[in-house]
Amino acid sequence: MVCKTAETVAIGTACPNCGCEDAELVRRSGWWGQPTERVACRHCGREFTRAAEPPAETEDTPCTVFPRVACPRCGSKQTRVTSTRAALRWHSCESCQRPFKSLER
Ligand SMILES: [Zn+2]
Ligand SMILES: [Zn+2]
Repeated sequence: MVCKTAETVAIGTACPNCGCEDAELVRRSGWWGQPTERVACRHCGREFTRAAEPPAETEDTPCTVFPRVACPRCGSKQTRVTSTRAALRWHSCESCQRPFKSLER
């Protein structure tokens, strides 16, 4: 799996792609003396890097948690976010291969 995503976010923060906090640790490493975690988001499948040192001004950035959604047709949670617009997200179900959308409340 080739991933060119280069975002670095603070450890403990959500996925920069979809806002999901459910990420799986791929590997832990040090980057110029700074501990980093390479994680893969279970929600959108993208990989990104977390660093112990939070980037500047993150404390003022509002953060929301996106719930993991299940496919309304087959109930599968093997879904990925294909697009987002404000509170609306479009998903693609891996099980039944059908698209659906969700609205953040
Ligand atoms: Zn994600
Ligand atoms: Zn489905």
